[in-house]
Amino acid sequence: MTIIESPRDELSALRDLCGGAVALPGDDGYDAARSCFNLALDQRPAAVVYPADSSEVAEVVHAARGLGLRVAGQSTGHNAGPLGNLSGTILVKTSGMGGVAIDADARIARVGAGAVWEDVVDAAAPHGLYALHGSSPTVGVAGYSLGGGMGWLARSHGLQTNSLTAIELVTADGELVRTDADNDPELFWALRGGGGNFGIVTALEFRLYAITEVYAGFMIWDWSEAARVLPVYARWAALAPDHVTTSFRIMQLPPLPEIPEPIRGRSIVIVDGAVQGDPAVLEPLRALQPEIDTFATMPAPALVRLHQDPEEPMPYVGDTALIDELPEAAIEALLQMAGPKSGSPLAIVELRQLGGALARRASGHGAVGGIDAQYVLFMCGMALDADMAAFMKHHAERIKAALEPWSGRGAYLNFAEDKVDPSLTHGPATWERLKAVKARLDPDNLIHANHAI
Ligand SMILES: Cc1cc2nc3c(=O)[nH]c(=O)nc-3n(C[C@H](O)[C@H](O)[C@H](O)COP(=O)(O)OP(=O)(O)OC[C@H]3O[C@@H](n4cnc5c(N)ncnc54)[C@H](O)[C@@H]3O)c2cc1C
Repeated sequence: MTIIESPRDELSALRDLCGGAVALPGDDGYDAARSCFNLALDQRPAAVVYPADSSEVAEVVHAARGLGLRVAGQSTGHNAGPLGNLSGTILVKTSGMGGVAIDADARIARVGAGAVWEDVVDAAAPHGLYALHGSSPTVGVAGYSLGGGMGWLARSHGLQTNSLTAIELVTADGELVRTDADNDPELFWALRGGGGNFGIVTALEFRLYAITEVYAGFMIWDWSEAARVLPVYARWAALAPDHVTTSFRIMQLPPLPEIPEPIRGRSIVIVDGAVQGDPAVLEPLRALQPEIDTFATMPAPALVRLHQDPEEPMPYVGDTALIDELPEAAIEALLQMAGPKSGSPLAIVELRQLGGALARRASGHGAVGGIDAQYVLFMCGMALDADMAAFMKHHAERIKAALEPWSGRGAYLNFAEDKVDPSLTHGPATWERLKAVKARLDPDNLIHANHAI
């Protein structure tokens, strides 16, 4: 398909789409409409549209085809970096297509493509049910679920994508399709990990779990303790039972008033997570005498803010890698590059604990059946301007290079903030299958996704 740069008068044909909920370049609302969660990005789509339902999405797809434009779905823009600048593309923002319905007997949630995780947690909790959300209440259910999705129950329940039971989408020829294990199972398989490549998703359905309480919290040490804490954590994490999921972070916190006094402006080491069984499993970490220890039994919905992720858009640079193992030499390399005296400017250097159910693939799973690594490394630095962004990126790349001997192939795509080669993550057989579904559903490559097939 040839992508054309449409002049503004040609684009004005889009003006009446979505009942007029359209922002074109030059419009007063265009700059607000094109922005996303990461304020360091500069998306410049041919138009931004806000459909209210699937028929409006279909109109957008037909109009895009008529004008030689592409179409990209976006719920919150938490993973907008890999989309590029979106020239020649209509950005379909699904924020007007939210809504959550809970079927408590079947333990299934149905959400519109614009729903965010907090919406689901709030709707499911009164029924004693819980979803496999991640660490942020404002991340979109759609992008998270289509890309994988791992949260505090990941080592016991696996990736959220494999809890999906049905997906509805408008395909590249403008058809509304419902896919599940019985209806076009190959498309259903591809969407679960192959992301937004096959159409604009309008609704998702997924399993909920009868979980009302967890033993969760965080432990904090000064970062001068990093060399004492990380080796113990790594030995413990490698052998921990599946009912525990944790994260280890080195954080350099700014002196902002909204950060609580004991840690404001400090550099710390923090382990947080959730236990769904005997709390005694945390004893080896407690023996390290954390300065703060908040682990306690709490209502499961409190997990959605456990990690204290930023909820308002901000400018940042992120990077990621899969870590296969963390022996002593890897710990030393990581602390040399990111610990005290390293000179690292990164606000967060994080290891998310994998294994357990994340390592077990089952026949009903989608294209991303699990993650083959011991940790996902995620790094993040503030990027108030281009120089700062380059500086942060440089440091993140140095850390990745230092850990290269212990790193896996590909990346966990939900954490990849830049264009990466998704074929490395999927592996040759899955990649060929994904390409075949893409060729069948979207031979003209009309649909543009963050991690393009
Ligand atoms: C602060 C923060 C915390 C995070 N925490 C976690 C975590 O704990 N666990 C985890 O696994 N990940 C986490 N992530 C990563 C997150 O899962 C990805 O960024 C995910 O892609 C976000 O989905 P979204 O819909 O909010 O973002 P978007 O940027 O809106 O969507 C990402 C991609 O999904 C596709 N997509 C979205 N909506 C549609 C649609 N309606 N139709 C077709 N395609 C669509 C598109 O290809 C789009 O480019 C976090 C990210 C951030 C920034």
